[in-house]
Amino acid sequence: MLAKFDSHVHLDVRPEDDVRRMSLAGIRYVLTLAHDPMPFRNHEALMGHWEAVQSAAEDASEYLVDARIGLGIHPRAVPEQGIEEALRALESRLDDIDAVGEVGLEKATDQEVEVLREQLDLAATEDVPVVVHTPRSRDPKVISRILETVKESDADPELVVVDHLDEKFLDAVLGEGFNAGITVQPGKATVEEAVEMVLEHREDSDRILINSDASRAPSNVLAVAEVALELERRGFDDVEAVVRDNALQLF
Ligand SMILES: [Zn+2]
Repeated sequence: MLAKFDSHVHLDVRPEDDVRRMSLAGIRYVLTLAHDPMPFRNHEALMGHWEAVQSAAEDASEYLVDARIGLGIHPRAVPEQGIEEALRALESRLDDIDAVGEVGLEKATDQEVEVLREQLDLAATEDVPVVVHTPRSRDPKVISRILETVKESDADPELVVVDHLDEKFLDAVLGEGFNAGITVQPGKATVEEAVEMVLEHREDSDRILINSDASRAPSNVLAVAEVALELERRGFDDVEAVVRDNALQLF
């Protein structure tokens, strides 16, 4: 069976049995990212969350899943106090992590933009890839602001994944030279929609990554395996790239 890479998960809030099921379905690599499991009063609380992400990644090896780690400040989890301390903590961990993320904008407040910009510039100092969240609202103003902020930053577009994209923004993101993440999850893309998006953008299949964003929200932890199977059934000849190799190369 083809080994697969789920490029965006949150194992710290998923039961152990999910990791076992992913492994059974051949999902043997994941990138587990910091997110917004709760509001953080200060940077110490955020650090506690980062530790939970790291220990969930270690636990995944029990089921032969190689979990890579992304740490960062999610736009819905900016600590009420100690933003500067949190940024310095991220800087000190750049050598130990596989990505900065997930970061991004939710409402595009000035504070969110500033925190995103700082993290993009920090990641660029060590050439660490960045996973950038786009909001469920699909607000075109917020998404344009995200793309603008990334373009203005020091980050190398080849090391940036703009995630949770739908058909509408996929072209724009690929056109700017970024990697594009497609999330298969209730409320985001369906398996069928993801497959169609990949087939329609097959010329850019070296820059498309599929993921489940498995979190506390309703999620399909087998999403990447389902997309892989459907792409194989359709005779797509670059399945490995979108369900594994692009992510392996980045993270
Ligand atoms: Zn996420």
